[in-house]
Amino acid sequence: MPRIIRVLSLMIIVPALLLAACGEDTPDDGRLRVVATIAPVGALAHAVAGDTIRLNVLVKAGVDPHEYEVNAADSRTIANAQVILRNDLGVDAFLDKALKNNKGTLVTLTDGLTLREAPEEDEGKDPHVWHDPRNDIAMVDAILKALSAAAPEHAATFEANARQYQDRLRAVDIEVKAIIDTIPAANRKMVTDHDAFGYFTARYGLTVIGTVIPGTSTSAEPSAAEIAALVQAIRREGVRAIFAESSVDPKVAKRVAEETNIRIVDDLYGDSLGAPGSGAETVDGMLLSNARKIAEALR
Ligand SMILES: [Zn+2]
Repeated sequence: MPRIIRVLSLMIIVPALLLAACGEDTPDDGRLRVVATIAPVGALAHAVAGDTIRLNVLVKAGVDPHEYEVNAADSRTIANAQVILRNDLGVDAFLDKALKNNKGTLVTLTDGLTLREAPEEDEGKDPHVWHDPRNDIAMVDAILKALSAAAPEHAATFEANARQYQDRLRAVDIEVKAIIDTIPAANRKMVTDHDAFGYFTARYGLTVIGTVIPGTSTSAEPSAAEIAALVQAIRREGVRAIFAESSVDPKVAKRVAEETNIRIVDDLYGDSLGAPGSGAETVDGMLLSNARKIAEALR
């Protein structure tokens, strides 16, 4: 390659690499600045807006939101956001502390949804709404409304994307039901890591016999008595598999699986989504991925 061309191509490549490396600290490019708290919320926002907005998802794939704390970079991103999309109900409570300097519009996507009660150990409502596609369809509407108000010049694009994605979610709802229906009725019993699948099991006719970690958060530790009771319930109900999650340490779940001599599936998506390229980095892909793993283990 002639030297002059090499120098010229470096002049193009190097700044491009620097920009890519800087990520969220790159200068304002005029796009709407949107923050999503957790991976499912971020994926729904991406489905509506694509690259039309500058989307920052605080909790990345594979990270447990219940344990998350905002860092200094997150605080800057939040303070600078024009729209903040949150799930609420405790799963993204880390946001609350960082909100005092924010001037952007705060949108709570679970407002107006029909919510499950949290189990006895917890107070309030179960936050894991995204495991029922009907909730995702409603949340897409809320995102569409908020983004269209904040960036009306892109409203037509948002609307077209939202309607297309809602059609996709309706199709996935039917597909997941068909997959779960292949499990014999007597086998539709699950033990999960924490109580993240109430909306999913209610929608598709499965029963959660027990959870390894008590409650809808991941921060509690099971006592020896709780583990013993779970082992007993698994034996009594003939549960065929324990489902641990991609974002939770499966240590205790593994112990229970060994003790009861049943199978463990350790990569269900409870609070997180798959890494980019996994096929489960979208909400529809995550729902299908979970359904296939559950059906395969319980059939
Ligand atoms: Zn959770």
